[in-house]
Amino acid sequence: MPKDMNTVSIFERRESEARSYCRGMPATFATASGSEITDDAGKTYIDFLAGCSSLNYGHNDPDMKAALIEHISNDGIAHGLDLHTNSKAAFLEAFEEHILEPRGMDHRVMFTGPTGANAVEAAMKIARKVTGRTNIIAFTNGFHGVTTGALSATGNSYHRGGAGTSLNGVTRMPFDGFFPGETDTAEFLDAMLKDKSGGVDAPAAILLETVQGEGGLNAASPEWVKRIAELAKEHGALLIIDDIQAGCGRCGTFFSFDEMGVMPDIVTMAKSVSGFGLPMAMLLVRPEYDIFGPAEHNGTFRGNTHAFITAKVAVEKFWSDDSFQNDLSEKSQLIHDSLADLAAMVPGAYLKGRGLMQGVDVGSGDLAGEICSRAYDKGLIIETSGSEDQVIKVLAPLTTSTDLLVKGFNILLDAANDVLSAPQTIAAE
Ligand SMILES: *Cc1c(COP(=O)(O)O)cnc(C)c1O
Repeated sequence: MPKDMNTVSIFERRESEARSYCRGMPATFATASGSEITDDAGKTYIDFLAGCSSLNYGHNDPDMKAALIEHISNDGIAHGLDLHTNSKAAFLEAFEEHILEPRGMDHRVMFTGPTGANAVEAAMKIARKVTGRTNIIAFTNGFHGVTTGALSATGNSYHRGGAGTSLNGVTRMPFDGFFPGETDTAEFLDAMLKDKSGGVDAPAAILLETVQGEGGLNAASPEWVKRIAELAKEHGALLIIDDIQAGCGRCGTFFSFDEMGVMPDIVTMAKSVSGFGLPMAMLLVRPEYDIFGPAEHNGTFRGNTHAFITAKVAVEKFWSDDSFQNDLSEKSQLIHDSLADLAAMVPGAYLKGRGLMQGVDVGSGDLAGEICSRAYDKGLIIETSGSEDQVIKVLAPLTTSTDLLVKGFNILLDAANDVLSAPQTIAAE
């Protein structure tokens, strides 16, 4: 190897240019516990990114870790295709008891390949198979993953540009609040679907996030979601709620649509469903639409046995009574108040999102990026989202202590203050 090659890190030397988060946060991370993550130089960061909401219960939850270690020590099954395993049974029992039954949900659980995108693919395929229709309604700023089928439902032009092929079978409609002012985009959708010359093919499904995670924390109102659910029914389409990022407690309740009075035909889940950051995805589907034949939607890793172990602990530990959820509403308020302080520092800035999925639109991607980058230097990991990356997004683990939340927000406000008061920054122009 030429000598100078040694001065370039292994990541720059060998890892694909497709790498992304590590560019803005170049430390090499080594250990993590709860809401803190430590790099190989011993610097500890507060984690307000939480694996993009894949670590809602923090890093290395002690109970999940203990259960997993015990399972491995006992030569528990590590990979079982979709065979019956005791760990799958235990997870399903816990999920039925603590999540499905209390909500009166008769949904079946389908384990897909372990990524969110794969669950979305399966959901779209089911809707098309059930209805015999092709068209799927998805919304502006929606993010549903980047495999070709899911990507056709994703709005982001940068991701879409990577497809290298035409992305078909989806009609884009304006999400709640897409137009400034009072425009009711649910009524707009209804009008488009009703008019026989509206030009929108009868939909197989309407697919939405109730809070758009990657799309800039646009939170749909419960009334809007309810109206969309009615429209799906009226127009013979399945309602698919993509709860991959907004679910598992992120919005303050287990499902993001709890308390909205809607019952989706299909719910996609991934990210935090394992509880431990292990890859696991699934969809919940009403029994009458559970129509795939055996392995028709196939996958070698349908169900990750280690993830079943931790997912069961997550459900039992956090969702078997109301105490965790009650705690979340207090934390949501703290996040809201802290972000209001940040918004007050930037002219025109405003709050977005809901629950523990809130942020501030600072009006410019450059400014949001600079604030996050300064926060990183000061020991806080936080990311942006939105069509211009203009939204500073807080996705702290739901288990973050009040003390640590306050500490994290102090760093964030400090970082914003540095950036906004520095004479040379874009903010001062
Ligand atoms: C992350 C995400 C996906 C895609 O999940 P992957 O595991 O990255 O494929 C789909 N939908 C939503 C709402 C997401 O946030």
